[in-house]
Amino acid sequence: MKQSVSKAKPLPSISLADVGGIQGEMKDEIMQTLSILKEPERALQMGLKPPKGILLYGPPGTGKTLLAQAIAKELGATFFSTSGSSFNEMFVGVGASRVRSLFQNARKQKPAVVFIDEVDALAGKRKQHGGEESEKTLTELLVQLDGGHSNDGILFIAATNRKDMLDDAFLRPGRIDFSFHVPLPDMKGRKEIIEIHTRNRKLAENVMCSLENLAESTSGFSGADLQSLFETASRRAVQNGQKCIMKEDIDFALDRTVLGSSTRALQDA
Ligand code: ATP
Repeated sequence: MKQSVSKAKPLPSISLADVGGIQGEMKDEIMQTLSILKEPERALQMGLKPPKGILLYGPPGTGKTLLAQAIAKELGATFFSTSGSSFNEMFVGVGASRVRSLFQNARKQKPAVVFIDEVDALAGKRKQHGGEESEKTLTELLVQLDGGHSNDGILFIAATNRKDMLDDAFLRPGRIDFSFHVPLPDMKGRKEIIEIHTRNRKLAENVMCSLENLAESTSGFSGADLQSLFETASRRAVQNGQKCIMKEDIDFALDRTVLGSSTRALQDA
């Protein structure tokens, strides 16, 4: 039996500058939301209620977890992170009691961000979700999200690849106030992500000069794919005793990543 689902982590070291591809309207909305959360009294004077819950949705590996960590860092909040599947227990009441203790722990360490990844495993539509036990766990989550003033100083962030699977009651304003779509990065986003993941790596001159081309040729890659690409290239360079990443390492890693994504797509089909 899993013993604990929530881990309070020290302040994440990830900042918004580490998340690439957050642009335009979404960036503005996130910045606005953060400024309200940083100065809730000022917002209240303007008749604005600070948001309690945020949903991040989009394909796997696009940086939803990263963004949640960066938001926690911006707010100087303790980060409680867990996955929706860790509440699925066959024993009566265990899931609900885990939800309760997650929020109780967060209330002891305000300001706090409570992050639940794969929230569809916990807050899926009740009819499809099925099972009395899952329903009790979801009901407990709704009760905790409705905690009123006891939730002041707590921001709930949920992430999913399947927004369409979520229960309407969970998505109700007051529980989830903002939903942000985190899509696969476009060309500009990939360029930013490539810059982030090459910051601390030594690149050969011809690799440095071709990063823009790499951004162009990696359409369909997620941030996680790009991160993995540079990890693979670095590993190969180290194995070969090189001082920097060369064009051949990138080509090798590209083949691997493209192969990996198509195998995943076949397995998912
Ligand atoms: P999942 O839906 O599978 O949980 P996710 O959207 O939460 O995925 P992350 O776990 O945040 O994705 O991303 C995994 C890793 O990929 C990150 O730790 C980071 O190294 C890299 N990454 C993903 N997206 C980005 C991004 N937008 N900017 C920079 N790095 C990224």
